[in-house]
Amino acid sequence: MPQTQDKSAKDSGILVVSRGKPAQANCWSCGAMRAAHFCQQCGKVQPPAPVDYFTFFGLPYKLNLETGRLEREFYDLSRHLHPDINAIKSDREQSWALEQSSHLNDAYRTLKDPILRTEYLLRLQGVQLEEQSKAATEEARRTGTLKKQVVPPDLLEEVFELNMQLEEMRMNKKMGESDRTLERQIEDARKQLEGKYDGMMQDLSAAWSEWDALVERAERGESVLDDDRLAVRDKMVEVLNRRNYLRNLLRDIDEALES
Ligand SMILES: [Zn+2]
Repeated sequence: MPQTQDKSAKDSGILVVSRGKPAQANCWSCGAMRAAHFCQQCGKVQPPAPVDYFTFFGLPYKLNLETGRLEREFYDLSRHLHPDINAIKSDREQSWALEQSSHLNDAYRTLKDPILRTEYLLRLQGVQLEEQSKAATEEARRTGTLKKQVVPPDLLEEVFELNMQLEEMRMNKKMGESDRTLERQIEDARKQLEGKYDGMMQDLSAAWSEWDALVERAERGESVLDDDRLAVRDKMVEVLNRRNYLRNLLRDIDEALES
């Protein structure tokens, strides 16, 4: 019996792991078929299953997500899993409720944010994104090492010039001089980069739709070429790296302008 199920799960590949509901099981207490996190029959909290955030919410691996629905689901589950509500329950249930609650909070925080959601899906797809966080930047500065950053090719020239200007301005400030023309040039460059940063969300959203279309194909049982999947995946990685790069650059400019 499980063989046919295993096969269909395998055929649909990495795209369709979650079909809308986490694996069903019977309630440990009353034996009724239960919801994933608590029993619909007797209300008892169920032992947590090690599932990813999409599966936790019973969602397919799609990136266009109705955040309103997610929010309602979150509050509904929060109520059921809240430690106060579970105070009169057994120790075992209480610790399950706590564990489920914290998983729920992590899952919600990650999935409601478009960037975190994309990064999370990419991680599920085995992608390690470049570490370009503020912490990494500061650490690199502190230790004097050069942080590994890939400059998006179409920005190379712009960034090269901008870095020269920033360097010049830092020198000026060190000497107690100011160059209004230079400052204005840098502010202009900043405005342009900001526009590009804002355009990023559109690129990302276009990639989401391509991705979701692949998931839908897999859901219909149609085959999806690995190359197609990887192409969309890589597109998202590129957009996110570009976004991180621009974000850091904008921060560098602001720091230079303010100092
Ligand atoms: Zn039950």
